[in-house]
Amino acid sequence: MNMKKFSKKIRCLSENPCNGELHLKTIKYKLNVKGKIIAIPDIEVWECNLCREHFYPYESSKKIDLYKQYSGKIMLRINPEIHSKLVQIAKKHHRSLNQEINYLLRKNTLTHKNTFFHH
Ligand SMILES: [Zn+2]
Repeated sequence: MNMKKFSKKIRCLSENPCNGELHLKTIKYKLNVKGKIIAIPDIEVWECNLCREHFYPYESSKKIDLYKQYSGKIMLRINPEIHSKLVQIAKKHHRSLNQEINYLLRKNTLTHKNTFFHH
């Protein structure tokens, strides 16, 4: 059920007494990982119009947990011949090696209907 379609008022869920209303908004969530601030884009959150407290839908907290667990940085060991081919392909596409590998992984993951990206 898409909550955004309903204009029904949702009472603030704060533990402190509050008569505020919750409104759904999309924020850039700032996560502190070992002293480094990482911005997570497009996090949906219910915000109270009075006390400004935030309440996270299940999908949002799942996404935040994922960012806590996975930095998105990996050291990869590959066959030098594949490495060389990838560099050539990347050049042809005017992409960096990193962009090319991202493109290929994403394309492959999405076309094979894996459970990774289901929207
Ligand atoms: Zn409130």
